[in-house]
Amino acid sequence: MAAGDGEPEPAVQQRPQLQSKNVCVVGGGMAGLAAARELRREGHAVTVMEQSGDVGGQWLYDPAPTRGLVPSASSAYASLRLRTPREAMGFSDFQLLPRDGAGRDPRRFPGHREVHCYLRDFCAAFGLMDAVRLNTRVVRVAPTSTATRQWAVRSVRRLGGPEDGARAEEEEEEAVFDAVVVATGQYSHPVLPSGIEGAGEWRRRQLHSHLYRTPEPFRGEAVVVVGCGDSGTDIALDLRRVARVVHLAAGSEASTPAVSRMVANHGDVLRLHPRARRLHADGRVSFDDGSSVVADTVIYCTGYGYSFPFLDTGGAVAVGDGGCVVGPLFEHVFPPSLAPSLSFVGVPRKVLVPWFVEAQARWVAQALSGRRALPPEAEMVRAVEEHLRAREAAGVPRKHAHHHINGIDKMIEFMEEHGGLTPMEEWKEELLLSSVASMCDDLETFRDRADDGESVRKGLQGWRGGLAAQAQHEAMDAAAEAEADGLAMDD
Ligand SMILES: Cc1cc2nc3c(=O)[nH]c(=O)nc-3n(C[C@H](O)[C@H](O)[C@H](O)COP(=O)(O)OP(=O)(O)OC[C@H]3O[C@@H](n4cnc5c(N)ncnc54)[C@H](O)[C@@H]3O)c2cc1C
Repeated sequence: MAAGDGEPEPAVQQRPQLQSKNVCVVGGGMAGLAAARELRREGHAVTVMEQSGDVGGQWLYDPAPTRGLVPSASSAYASLRLRTPREAMGFSDFQLLPRDGAGRDPRRFPGHREVHCYLRDFCAAFGLMDAVRLNTRVVRVAPTSTATRQWAVRSVRRLGGPEDGARAEEEEEEAVFDAVVVATGQYSHPVLPSGIEGAGEWRRRQLHSHLYRTPEPFRGEAVVVVGCGDSGTDIALDLRRVARVVHLAAGSEASTPAVSRMVANHGDVLRLHPRARRLHADGRVSFDDGSSVVADTVIYCTGYGYSFPFLDTGGAVAVGDGGCVVGPLFEHVFPPSLAPSLSFVGVPRKVLVPWFVEAQARWVAQALSGRRALPPEAEMVRAVEEHLRAREAAGVPRKHAHHHINGIDKMIEFMEEHGGLTPMEEWKEELLLSSVASMCDDLETFRDRADDGESVRKGLQGWRGGLAAQAQHEAMDAAAEAEADGLAMDD
């Protein structure tokens, strides 16, 4: 009914007065960059502090896992390729489209360098690099006072080049921010198994997969790979090319058709064993079934834990359960007593990135501006407790508190509710699910199989060659030109 028909004029919707905050983002990986983009969109001033010499986090491959005393943030090995199809792995409005150019990798499951190039493209397209301070490690984040809820952020900037290692000069700085977003990732702090006896005394080589880069140093060796997750299987397949023998030691997680097939295909080099139980002084490694083998090296592919050594919240948020749980965090993002001025982007595991972190980041940006309200503190605390209780009742181990185990629907629900993102197109979901099925069938070949169904083939045409793709390519070309002009002017 038109106004003027005797009906009262509809009330003019009052827009909330949006606030602009001065925000520090700790970490310049996928999550930190997602946060920077969303915070800027919402009108906040942003400073991203990144300890490495470039953005990209895990996707910034570092051939030297340690420089002097400084361990690399990235756990990527040289042969690492995505396990997620590129079509399902991109920001909602900035797809991981194949691009021409030196060093680009057009494959559906490209190598780590392509993902790094994509993240650089993302920064260029949204002009993010001017917000990023590289070589800047955050060493302390603490509230300035409970009254103002501001944060003092102390950082250390390396002044030398990467080749200077531990000798590089450093400059310390402290600045105050209205809010801090922690986006320091979850794949840089190795978790070692606690149940293997004799590991402390074993004199042969032991390392965590965090420090593994290439198989060459293990040529001709007998290697025990402990753990059979993504890294364990990738690294075992890498090693089998040069090692004399590779013993995979794993628990029930190894009893999958994909692992059986992998071992059967390379029976001359790969052997499957139960969990490793003890390392002996004479070089033997014994397993749960009492058998043993002599090994030159043990590689622990036993995962990663959360660690925020810089965070000083007086116990308001802490890491527990052997590094596996951060809390309390409302919806894995906000510590109830410090929300929204302190938040975490990138804590959940087994989620689709960068899609999921984009939704988290948008939620944080809008909670800080006042566009979205958070529940009262007590309600958030209750929700965290309920989440943990429900997980326990379902028999989920506490160390999986941050696993998004309820499947893609639950993920989409979060993204719609808190991030305002539209669901993934059906063909992408189909591709994602068929890729997972393919991976569960054959770990070695799933990345290079081409058996798309009709709807995926149709979807792909629009994705690669459609208007949105063209617009993205044009934006990228313009950004590259602007960057080149900027560099020329700097010269
Ligand atoms: C071997 C491996 C394979 C993977 N394969 C896939 C895959 O196939 N598909 C997929 O979707 N995901 C995969 N992942 C997960 C991957 O980590 C995520 O895709 C994504 O990179 C996580 O981004 P992030 O920003 O949360 O963390 P990160 O990429 O770890 O970035 C965190 C950043 O914070 C910085 N930082 C840390 N502490 C500080 C500090 N104190 N001060 C300043 N900066 C700091 C680090 O230097 C780093 O740059 C894989 C991870 C690993 C390790």
